[in-house]
Amino acid sequence: MITKELAVKNLDKVISKVEGARLRISEHHIVKIIGISKYSQADEISTLYSAGQRAFGENKVQDLKEKMNTLEELPLEWHFVGRLQKNKINNLIDLKPTLMHSLDSLELATELNKKLEAKKTTMKCLLQINSAKEDSKSGVQPEEAVEIYKTILDNCPNIKLVGVMSIGAHVDERAIIKASFDTTKKIYDELTPLGAKYCSMGMSGDFELAIACGSNMIRVGSSLFK
Ligand SMILES: *Cc1c(COP(=O)(O)O)cnc(C)c1O
Repeated sequence: MITKELAVKNLDKVISKVEGARLRISEHHIVKIIGISKYSQADEISTLYSAGQRAFGENKVQDLKEKMNTLEELPLEWHFVGRLQKNKINNLIDLKPTLMHSLDSLELATELNKKLEAKKTTMKCLLQINSAKEDSKSGVQPEEAVEIYKTILDNCPNIKLVGVMSIGAHVDERAIIKASFDTTKKIYDELTPLGAKYCSMGMSGDFELAIACGSNMIRVGSSLFK
């Protein structure tokens, strides 16, 4: 359990690193911080809220539901960042998340669109790209990403695609992590004429590098909650 004091300290540390990294790009390069609360309890999220953090994310639909319910009094923004199983799609739709970061295949998009249509609603989503081409990660292949993005725009009117998401390469070599972020950013740049607004990349271990590569949305968990 983190104390209010520690929450403020953690958040300040992340904010000042983000400030440094974004100002190296431009004063106008704004980066949104999503606090990933998957290893934390509702009272810890509430502590982070009192330190100033407003946007949080979960990777399991059930956890998202429980934490949203427990914290419904607070004006929080909720993001979904995990692998979405087909049998959980309706549950996620009912939670009306602010943004779904992990649309990871055309197949999932088709299924999600069908269920959104049936419920007469829409969902803002990011297309997840497996830029490091790691078997352990989901996401579309980088060379197919633009085509799949366009196909979803054309065929899934209930999905509001607003950008891309990626997880940096899971290695120690900075150059390889940077290459995976560069790959995602290049795809993002191709998609901005089609309405892409968010390039969600960077986690606790690599968010400064991700911002240097052009990320405008980072997902940090352990550096805020530990
Ligand atoms: C857990 C998780 C994060 C946060 O990871 P940390 O290393 O704890 O900052 C970010 N993105 C996704 C998709 C995650 O599952």
